[in-house]
Amino acid sequence: MAHELPPLPYDYSALEPTIDEQTMHIHHDKHHAAYVTNLNKTLESAPALQGKSLEDLLANLSAVPDGIRQAVINNGGGVFNHTLFWEFMAPKAGGEPTGEVATAINAAFGNFAAFKDKLSNAGMTRFGSGWAWLVFDKDGKLAITSTANQDSPISIGQKALLGVDVWEHAYYLKYQNRRADYLAAWWNVVNWAEVAARYARFK
Ligand code: MN
Repeated sequence: MAHELPPLPYDYSALEPTIDEQTMHIHHDKHHAAYVTNLNKTLESAPALQGKSLEDLLANLSAVPDGIRQAVINNGGGVFNHTLFWEFMAPKAGGEPTGEVATAINAAFGNFAAFKDKLSNAGMTRFGSGWAWLVFDKDGKLAITSTANQDSPISIGQKALLGVDVWEHAYYLKYQNRRADYLAAWWNVVNWAEVAARYARFK
């Protein structure tokens, strides 16, 4: 079964003014869509992999033939990471986490401000294109990480609780080269309800 482009879980303009409507259209309808198309094209040569879930493919890259492994990392990761990214944001969101996940973040990073600084810094210092993440690492500990290109935490045994896309295509129309401004504004749309749900599922 072919992989499909999931619809945005909200309107294209729902994250204004933090993320502008045009960026959301291009990001979802062009970039995310292209990863889906290219993943399906890549898997044409590997019928045995076509029935596998995306999670299964990315979590078991050694089962992917050498000749298409990098294409699966790039395009499968592109599909997976963007599907998460839309869920990590929501209209009328932002603010601070509450409950168990807030307690865990404070315990791991000191306090919420220190956590924000550390995740933002991971995004700022990712050279070129990639992502910054809050994950459960392989030992089940909360950690802040960064991945290059479309590499995904799931491929190295991590479970993503939150992540931010720092590819230029995520912010250039509105913020141009000012990645720091994009990252500072992005906290206004973080969907803490989703982070809390993922924390409860993975802990
Ligand atoms: Mn992107």
